Amino acid sequence: MAEALGADGPFAELLPGFAPRDEQRHLAVAVARALGRGSTLVGEAGTGTGKTFAYLVPALLSGQRIIISTGTRHLQDQLFRSDLPLVKKALRGAYSTSLLKGRSNYVCRHRLARAMGLPVLNDETSRRHLRIIADWASRTDSGDIAEVTAVPEDSAVWGFVVSSEEFCAQHEFEDLADCFVHGARKRAQEADIVVVNHHLLCADLALKEDGFGEILPSANGFIIDEAHQLPDIAAQFFGRKLSSRQLLDLARDTVTEQLIEAPDTKALRDLGNALEVAVRHFRLAFAVEPDRDAWLTVQEDQTMIAELERLGGTLDALVEVLGEAATRGKGIEGCHKRALVHQASLARFKNDPADGEYVHWYETFRTGFSLNMTPMTVAGPFERAMEGVHASWVFTSATLAVGGDFGHFRQQLGLDDADELQLDSPFDYQRNALLYLPKDLPEPQGRGYTAALVERVRPVIEASEGRAFFLFTSYRALHEAERVLRDTLPYPLLVQGQMPRGELIEAFRSYGNAVLLGTASFWEGVDVRGEALSCVIIDKLPFGSPGDPVMSARIDHMKRAGGDPFAEYQIPQAAITLKQGVGRLIRDVTDRGVLVIGDPRVRTRLYGETFILSLPPMPITRDVAEVQRFFASQPTAGLSDAEDAAEAAEAAEAAEAAEATEAAKAAKAAKAAKAAKAAKAADSAKAAEREETEKGARSADGADAKDAKDARDASDAMVADPSEPVTS
Ligand code: SF4
Repeated sequence: MAEALGADGPFAELLPGFAPRDEQRHLAVAVARALGRGSTLVGEAGTGTGKTFAYLVPALLSGQRIIISTGTRHLQDQLFRSDLPLVKKALRGAYSTSLLKGRSNYVCRHRLARAMGLPVLNDETSRRHLRIIADWASRTDSGDIAEVTAVPEDSAVWGFVVSSEEFCAQHEFEDLADCFVHGARKRAQEADIVVVNHHLLCADLALKEDGFGEILPSANGFIIDEAHQLPDIAAQFFGRKLSSRQLLDLARDTVTEQLIEAPDTKALRDLGNALEVAVRHFRLAFAVEPDRDAWLTVQEDQTMIAELERLGGTLDALVEVLGEAATRGKGIEGCHKRALVHQASLARFKNDPADGEYVHWYETFRTGFSLNMTPMTVAGPFERAMEGVHASWVFTSATLAVGGDFGHFRQQLGLDDADELQLDSPFDYQRNALLYLPKDLPEPQGRGYTAALVERVRPVIEASEGRAFFLFTSYRALHEAERVLRDTLPYPLLVQGQMPRGELIEAFRSYGNAVLLGTASFWEGVDVRGEALSCVIIDKLPFGSPGDPVMSARIDHMKRAGGDPFAEYQIPQAAITLKQGVGRLIRDVTDRGVLVIGDPRVRTRLYGETFILSLPPMPITRDVAEVQRFFASQPTAGLSDAEDAAEAAEAAEAAEAAEATEAAKAAKAAKAAKAAKAAKAADSAKAAEREETEKGARSADGADAKDAKDARDASDAMVADPSEPVTS
């Protein structure tokens, strides 16, 4: 196994410039062991480890059926179209592989044919988009809409032409040989390696848990890449949701199918229309501005109670009449089935006791709403789902541990019996990176904080000659910084929202000296190698918003159970996010750069240590002159001198010689040593600074209640990026 990824292995032969990495081989051995034993592995592999090859090689060589899940469709495509073919070529085996996405990623020929005649798509742009899609649909084998780059992702036509569960339920066509969704699922049934994404994986596990069927084929093993994203995605699928869109679609389809299949049943049309009115009125019972809050906050409101009754009553009546007319045709039968599901969801939302198992919350948009039930924890359901499939599991990511500890991740998914492996990045952070903690910044909750931070980092941006990501925890702070920098920055300024994310990153790369301001969606999944990105500035520690109904309910739940939510939940979540943001800086062995963390709490609070210890160990400074010297000095390639080579060889020898668990232990020990080194560095930086640190800081140390308040007080904590596409 390890030989395949070694200096004399097939990858070295196939890929010019392939650099064998001990960390990569350790991970490959550990993955092979987990697949061979049917056990569970939680493995963190720092940036640059080459974890994709490290799990693909053992997966292919295992001779088993393995499902590999990635965080997004984009990563899924990249894995399937570039990494997997390379590994297959290197291993020279006859491996069958397949790509499977959620149904809305495939065009449906029947919906496409209908859409061509819809008056609502009669404008020139829509007609042109439909022609492109129709032409492609006549040639494609996969039906995967990612192939259609000539039609923008946000084109109105997509919603009318992709496969939808509702449409399928009503129009299951006899000849499935023509169906792209069916074809993709059939190929997945026959493949050794199936590449999916977390949304599809969780949808499948939740269906199995409910006993409602399955989407994915059975498998011997599951490999979950970008595993840090899994708990949040799993919470969406192990919960329940009823949206205005689902209800309005049902109302519209009822009216359409009544006209086609039961024109004499006027009551159906009336009830379809009544449902639409009830949905609109229910939205009006909420505040006008879009909102997201606990259901508890509005459930006693008299208007809300009345509108909810009206909505439920209309839905009940519709279910009854649809049931009576269900034999009239497939369309009405399909509507009846959907109405039953929505009726059950609404009843559950209304009647389930607030017993701590689910968080009941609502979200409103300009004209719509959703009612949600999110499990307080997915550990139980996920654990049961894992037990149900009897397979080996590998969870991997560059960011799973907090201060060297996997407890938070394991506890989120209920992974009690997992083996652990932590592998550092092979990049030379000591030599090629510098952490700058600016002095004299006010508390981050204060009004003047962002303006003060911008002025403090201006010399850093000048020293790096632009080439910086400035990452924010809120849009408010981002826009404030934009206002200050807009006319005073001698470099191109790129701001999230100016253009689509991909184009913004491309512009950043091609300018070569730009400064990019971004929020949540730029903290991860962005890969800018080389000098174009030489500085990452983090405005605040990315604590989740305590006003978020799910987070708030989980915090209360933990408190009631006698736990310490700040230490056990909020800090670990923020530390993982911070690691992701920091991971943007050094993407290659020759990359150099400066990381700036503006938030003074990283020094003045005890928990700051946890954040520092979660980062790759690198020198720390509080002196901007040192940052300027860093950028003025010549770049040096990492792992290049004799000392480092000897160290690397020694580590490799020790780990190669060690058996399975020994390898894990060695890696863990090395990590602990490095962490101790980092702690020492942090300590010395702290000692130097203590003389000058504000008096009040010390009194804040160790005050848990104060710490918790810090997070609650954060008026603008981490926010989700609404522009981020939903993947499935
Ligand atoms: S089953 Fe029929 S309706 Fe559903 S996606 Fe396939 S072709 Fe379209």
